[in-house]
Amino acid sequence: MAAYEYETHDYDVVVVGAGGAGLRATLGMAEQGLRTACVTKVFPTRSHTVAAQGGIAASLSNMGPDSWQWHMYDTVKGSDWLGDTDAMEYLAREAPKAVYELEHYGVPFSRTEQGKIYQRPFGGHTTEFGEGPPVQRTCAAADRTGHAILHTLYGQSLKHNAEFFIEYFALDLIMQDGRCTGVVAWKLDDGTIHVFNAKMTVLATGGYGRAYFSATSAHTCTGDGNGMVARAGLPLQDMEFVQFHPTGIYGSGCLITEGARGEGGYLTNSNGERFMERYAPTYKDLASRDVVSRCMTMEIREGRGVGEHGDHIHLHLNHLPPETLALRLPGISESARIFAGVDLHKEPIPVLPTVHYNMGGIPTNYFGEVLNPTPGNPDAVFPGLMAVGEAGCASVHGANRLGSNSLIDLVVFGRAAAIRAGEIVSPNEFQPAVPKGQIDQILGRFDAMRHANGAIPTPELRLEMQKTMQADAAVFRTDKTLAEGVEKMTAIAGKMADLKVTDRSLIWNSDLMETLELGNLMPNALTTIVAAEARKESRGAHAHEDYPNRDDENWRVHSLAWVDDTKVTLGNRPVHLDPLTTHAEGGIDLKKIAPKARVY
Ligand SMILES: Cc1cc2nc3c(=O)[nH]c(=O)nc-3n(C[C@H](O)[C@H](O)[C@H](O)COP(=O)(O)OP(=O)(O)OC[C@H]3O[C@@H](n4cnc5c(N)ncnc54)[C@H](O)[C@@H]3O)c2cc1C
Repeated sequence: MAAYEYETHDYDVVVVGAGGAGLRATLGMAEQGLRTACVTKVFPTRSHTVAAQGGIAASLSNMGPDSWQWHMYDTVKGSDWLGDTDAMEYLAREAPKAVYELEHYGVPFSRTEQGKIYQRPFGGHTTEFGEGPPVQRTCAAADRTGHAILHTLYGQSLKHNAEFFIEYFALDLIMQDGRCTGVVAWKLDDGTIHVFNAKMTVLATGGYGRAYFSATSAHTCTGDGNGMVARAGLPLQDMEFVQFHPTGIYGSGCLITEGARGEGGYLTNSNGERFMERYAPTYKDLASRDVVSRCMTMEIREGRGVGEHGDHIHLHLNHLPPETLALRLPGISESARIFAGVDLHKEPIPVLPTVHYNMGGIPTNYFGEVLNPTPGNPDAVFPGLMAVGEAGCASVHGANRLGSNSLIDLVVFGRAAAIRAGEIVSPNEFQPAVPKGQIDQILGRFDAMRHANGAIPTPELRLEMQKTMQADAAVFRTDKTLAEGVEKMTAIAGKMADLKVTDRSLIWNSDLMETLELGNLMPNALTTIVAAEARKESRGAHAHEDYPNRDDENWRVHSLAWVDDTKVTLGNRPVHLDPLTTHAEGGIDLKKIAPKARVY
């Protein structure tokens, strides 16, 4: 192996990722005087969070009655009773505070006539514990909410002297004596190697939508943090739950926000029928995402799809007043024109369920601390390591996430991680030593990839993985497709050893970077399909045709998956059923959130 020099940087905290979660954590750490580095492979405001259009959920009650208990109920039901009760309570309770904090930091929220933060309806968000009409809970900055949040948090982090390492690609976690002490990163523009030696490492690396062929997520969403955790021998949780968004633009996968249906948009089949009225009589087009995606798929399968091949669905916004479209949904008018070639004032938009969000990820408690479950202690904390945002699994989304509940998850848990780090990281403590042998091992793997000289170019293997996941681990799953999928994916993961990288340079080498990303996508894809094959029930986003019902007796558990090369070992962890506060103390009435059939 070529010898690599490296530069060492000492910090209290290193945050990997500068999306909404990474920036909120970075800001919170820096505010408390912790020396904080934020390492990111793309410029902070280019993180996928920038694409979030619809908004951020919090029970502010600006548009009518609402309460955190109702928000919690909707989240529990949305999760199909797989979320952790304590974490979901924390999310719903802290949400209003987190949104007002964003407002004070400078996020330019859309306003009501009275000057309050504007809120729109979103799927699965209701009043009266699901008994009342839809609620307007989703706070928005037009249809550019994520963009506004990222710019604001980046500016605030700079103001508090957080230090940014931009276009640095984190390779692997440094693990010694049973704790994490930082990361090793490759600087993309000059090829140098950097060791970030820290008392706390926070992974905020986002989701892995790019394990699939058609996804709304950015090409950078390659589950790098999950990959690092899997390589470090720690488990991933609930990976079988992958959300398909009902309205990706047919062909390009580009997202049309659920806010479009929130503002009055609706879906039709080839008969022009508003079919959601048949499946979800109460909430119709605003039922939760897994439900709407399944109904669309059923319409298409039964021959009522639209278009030449009858393989998609229409989304209508053409009945809405042009003023509403201009004020509330300006960005998607542009997306519809560019990506579907339609003028949404006049014609429907062709849409199709598209991979959108990963409910699973790195298991954490509700402070973002990473868990290393053992049979005796399913909540054991792995010291020195946190995970927040889409990379983490706290778990508030369980088997299915509600729209606008991710942005709030980013800021609530980014903030919670900072609060926790403030308690357990001491700025005056000695820095950990840098374990040379382990750094050499990490760089050894990097060097092997750089010089990979097998037969298969990276894009070819990536495509094979993406097509397999799209075909065998999609909206509907069967024993047969999953068993075949596991076999195919195991073989595909095995071909990592036969990759060919043609560019050997260390500077702006996208061939090498994409190969490293594929190395991270692979354990994500593999655990997703293996855990899906094992789960013999239907719950949330995991719709199994051979087991169409939810089975709480046997399957109300989080799945865990450890990866060793191409081998996945499964285990599980109990779902947390206890709330943070009892009903007598003002907490939720547990009877309200007891499991029942999930109808909308
Ligand atoms: C099109 C779209 C629209 C959405 N709309 C909404 C919405 O309206 N409301 C809502 O609640 N949710 C929405 N979501 C979901 C939500 O936006 C995402 O779940 C969320 O933004 C993820 O944020 P994050 O901070 O976890 O990660 P990201 O924003 O994806 O950021 C990941 C960060 O990690 C860094 N990174 C990754 N790997 C490495 C590495 N190896 N080395 C260094 N840095 C690395 C990247 O540079 C980046 O800064 C939407 C998602 C999509 C795709």
